[in-house]
Amino acid sequence: MGEVIQLGDISIEVTRKAVKNVHLSVYPPAGHMTLVAPTDARFEVVRAYAISKLGWIRDQQAKLLSQAREAPRQFVERESHYLWGRRYLLSVTEKDEKPSVRLDHRRIFLTVRPDSSRQKRNEVMQEWHRSLLHQVVPRLIRKWEEKLGVTVSGYFLQRMKTKWGGCNPRKRNIRLNTELVRKPKDLLEYVIVHEMVHLIEPTHSERFIALMTEHYPTWREARAELNELPIAAEVWREQAGTEGLRQQKLEGSSTRPPFEAPRASPGRHPISKRYQ
Ligand SMILES: [Zn+2]
Repeated sequence: MGEVIQLGDISIEVTRKAVKNVHLSVYPPAGHMTLVAPTDARFEVVRAYAISKLGWIRDQQAKLLSQAREAPRQFVERESHYLWGRRYLLSVTEKDEKPSVRLDHRRIFLTVRPDSSRQKRNEVMQEWHRSLLHQVVPRLIRKWEEKLGVTVSGYFLQRMKTKWGGCNPRKRNIRLNTELVRKPKDLLEYVIVHEMVHLIEPTHSERFIALMTEHYPTWREARAELNELPIAAEVWREQAGTEGLRQQKLEGSSTRPPFEAPRASPGRHPISKRYQ
């Protein structure tokens, strides 16, 4: 049973780890709070730290609330949809043929069967998003395997509520949030680099920060941008589990071990983590 700091209506989940400093994190969409504290720090000291950050906590939660106001997509004509950081207008055609999506310089053309539900339209778009990610992710992983001198056994595309990515250093796989398809491509690359650096250093230690700074000097800016971009309300409202987990082996990886669905692992972390 974990420790909890209760400050009025704010609950903060405390985790003990072999760290030097206290790390406080606020998660979308509801502003869930966690605090990582040094193993031997007294509870009262940790609590006093949390109280000293109350102003910051309130600011972050207010920010999340305003971001969460983005309305769920309805997949109707002329609706805005983001792709690689650019806004497109949706154009919907109902036709009795296999659903499809195509793109021109300013519009996304969604073709669905007559009377398709919002859910169905969403599924077609999601599938398309995955295919777009599969087109770019393997190349980026290879690029960084070479630069970092690490090997990734494979990657998962997954809808996640609180994380942009994840890494299982033991199984050497990484997870990426499918929502990244809405963000500029360099932010996807940043998340991939972040997760791959965890194959060298599993925690957000000083060594990790030094490695990020060496290989991806603009990581702070990338992280800030990722934390600020609007969160898609629709994603957080739907059952994340309905699609299950898809796996994607990198090509030419026949000697690599088969995938298993990732479980809670030491590599799980938010990349929205802020260093205090
Ligand atoms: Zn991390």
